Amino acid sequence: MKLKKADLLYRGKAKDIYKTEDPEIVIVKFRDDITAGDGEKKDNIDKKGYYNSIISAKFFELLEASGIKTQYIKLLEPGMMLSHRLEMIPLEIITRNMAAGSLLRKFPFQEKQELNPPIIQMDYKSDEFHDPMLNDDIAVALELTNRKELEIIRETTLKIDKVIKEFLKEKGIIFPDFKIEYGRNNKEEIVLGDEISPDSCRFWDMKTCEVLDKDLFRKGETGVIKAYSEIASRILDEEDKEKWNITE
Ligand code: UDP
Repeated sequence: MKLKKADLLYRGKAKDIYKTEDPEIVIVKFRDDITAGDGEKKDNIDKKGYYNSIISAKFFELLEASGIKTQYIKLLEPGMMLSHRLEMIPLEIITRNMAAGSLLRKFPFQEKQELNPPIIQMDYKSDEFHDPMLNDDIAVALELTNRKELEIIRETTLKIDKVIKEFLKEKGIIFPDFKIEYGRNNKEEIVLGDEISPDSCRFWDMKTCEVLDKDLFRKGETGVIKAYSEIASRILDEEDKEKWNITE
């Protein structure tokens, strides 16, 4: 499917949003661009968009089946997701089941320390301010959201964590942390948007603790696409694999 430049609504660091004939529906194009460290480290990895789109589609389908509202409609083809148009809230909602990454750089947690109940952290999504951590009071004072929405976001996020954690456990994958973003649909309802992929989550092999996510890129290691394809091959069922032509 060919997308027209004239229809481009928004270009992010790894995804483009295109309008369709229906003002409430957009196409999310998952690109192969990959960035880390506030956009300082950049590269382009063949098939990254392909894998992230099918992995995100799988998680969105799983969440929809558990009663969680997402922007997902369907994959038109790998890399292109038909989605409900949302007004995005510039908050990165980070949930942590185990201590890793920036949490270790900022606080005296032990590496891989179990966090039960999970920690929910919010960062302000802003390149200008370098995504600082914020709390409910700051988010409300900035008029990014309100208390009612924050309550829904918190409750939904904990449910998402539980559903995905349990699903991944059966696939032999640990789910240390992940970042999600929400938006509002035309009825002002809170809806899960963005993506759920190895770009935005940590995934570790349960047996070996092998890293299967963007941390490989952050650390300049090889095997990024191999790790992403491993996640796809573990979470997709046979029907999905056949549909998206995934060979193990
Ligand atoms: N994350 C993300 N985008 C960001 C920051 C974090 O998707 O801009 C994800 C990241 O992939 C990880 C989780 O949120 O799964 C927690 O990231 P952390 O705060 O530890 O930061 P990092 O180690 O990536 O600097």
